[in-house]
Amino acid sequence: MCGIVGYSGLKPVRQVLTDGLASLEYRGYDSAGVALWENDAVTVIRQQGRLSKLVERLGLMHEQSRCGIGHTRWATHGQPSEVNAHPHRQGRVTLVHNGIIENYLQLREELEKKGYHFQTQTDTEIAAALIDSCYTGSPLEAIRKACAGMEGAYAFAILFDGHPNCVYGVRLGSPLVAAVDETGAYLASDLAAILPYTDRYLLPEEGELLALENGRLTCYDSDLQPMEPVWKQAHWSVEQAQKEGYRYFMEKEIHEQPQALRRTISPRIEDGLPTFGVDGLPAGFFQKIRRLYITACGTALYCGMVGKALIEKIARLPVEVEVASEFRYRDPILEPDSAAVIISQSGETADSLAALRLLKARGIPVIAIVNVVGSSIAREADYCLYTYAGPEIAVATTKAYSVQVAMMYLIAILAAGERQVVDQEQQRRLIEGLEEAVELTPKVLAMKEEIRSYARGLRDTESMFYIGRGLDYSLALEGSLKLKEISYIHAEAYAAGELKHGTLALVTPHTPVVALATQPELLSKTVSNMREVMARGGPVLALVTEDLEIDAGACDQRITIPGKGGIFAPLLVVIVLQMIGFYAAEERGCDVDKPRNLAKSVTVE
Ligand code: GLU
Repeated sequence: MCGIVGYSGLKPVRQVLTDGLASLEYRGYDSAGVALWENDAVTVIRQQGRLSKLVERLGLMHEQSRCGIGHTRWATHGQPSEVNAHPHRQGRVTLVHNGIIENYLQLREELEKKGYHFQTQTDTEIAAALIDSCYTGSPLEAIRKACAGMEGAYAFAILFDGHPNCVYGVRLGSPLVAAVDETGAYLASDLAAILPYTDRYLLPEEGELLALENGRLTCYDSDLQPMEPVWKQAHWSVEQAQKEGYRYFMEKEIHEQPQALRRTISPRIEDGLPTFGVDGLPAGFFQKIRRLYITACGTALYCGMVGKALIEKIARLPVEVEVASEFRYRDPILEPDSAAVIISQSGETADSLAALRLLKARGIPVIAIVNVVGSSIAREADYCLYTYAGPEIAVATTKAYSVQVAMMYLIAILAAGERQVVDQEQQRRLIEGLEEAVELTPKVLAMKEEIRSYARGLRDTESMFYIGRGLDYSLALEGSLKLKEISYIHAEAYAAGELKHGTLALVTPHTPVVALATQPELLSKTVSNMREVMARGGPVLALVTEDLEIDAGACDQRITIPGKGGIFAPLLVVIVLQMIGFYAAEERGCDVDKPRNLAKSVTVE
């Protein structure tokens, strides 16, 4: 999850590196560091904590350097201290790393026998020593040889003593992009660091090597033969990756949901019917599928749970949803005639990527739902349905979740038609329902004062619960995650009917309960569960759609969601849940965009 950046060219590198790291800081912010070529030697400057501290420390020094590498860390091996901060140096090699070297202990032993001494607890320092031990004059050969001995995942940017103004790059499992402009050559963990300079970029394949030498970029294949770069065009602009007047990225991204949803849905509707023709998914794909596996992590997993409820209900297709990190290690029993869906905003989630590889190896066709174009999951899946949320910077996802959910509706409605569970007329009505819900999203955004005033009351809350049944339960999971990740209030989601089987014991006047009640057929049951909470003194906020009635005594407070209850309510309810999390975090003085211990794109296991 760390962010890496490198540059060789005509511009002062200090600014290029710190600007690049600022746009990659969402990937980690335990420490930051740079290594700079100065007077034919490498200077390393590292700092525990946020990038701003490093920038302060660099001040106006090192202005003359024109080549270097930088890192913003999300620690996996060793504490987030200065000594563990990247860049790491061993012998002639200085490098920054994103990923995990799994066999680092074994390598460490071997390298210690060769006389290497290690100062840090990181796996990265071992990689630096291994590359150094393979060096006999050619940086590219040393990297290739060392990589053959490393297991795990990595993207490296590497400097070699004796090769001034050169940066070398390589990746396996972790992302890396490269680009050139009239001043020089860049590499970075993602496009955000490069977009201010150019919108043309290339994505090296695993095993290919990059050399940024005195401002020139050369790509080499795994036999170290130079190759013609395959350029890609970015569709995101720098402005999209800025705050545009909002105080936080998360706030901006919450407000971008109506457009993001329209952008994602409209290319997939033709003549009122769903189609993934633009994505190359063949018509009739779901006709013969007998089971669908949805695999993902975090919020994307909760989106998968919404997907299960929708696809089973609308298309009558059995769906299994599983945490990617569990799925990949449990030797899953996969039925023939099944297909899989992998959901990942970044398209780089390590566990989801591994699950995808397992599914493909077992002959299961995989559809990816991904936001970042050209990411590993997008490239390796059989089909990719891109969501068009635009860049999402805040660590806590909002708009990327909503567009993933929109994809679940489209899959459910398309599959229902292909499996002849509904006819074209019913499909058209379902699509209308989806579009109507999207058109109501600005109305929910306009309710912010009401939601904020509820969230202000959570200032001193230590623990709370989210409850719901059916689709509302899947949404409750996302609501509780949103709250805990940014406001640090302990929150748990429960299927409303489960509360009484143990957890109700925790309900007191100091544990607020958010009850989602948007599913008409389950309303009376959920209301009973709300009453059970009220009877124990738990303060209940009910989130209810405007067409549904609940008695005044069933809750302390009600927030009315515009529109009708039922299958499309999740698109609206989730915005309320996101805003509760956002305003509670703001009220408690939390760093909304960069919550502690987290990073956005989880490229490690
Ligand atoms: N394993 C390295 C460290 O702990 C890199 C971590 C990462 O990329 O998330 O420093």
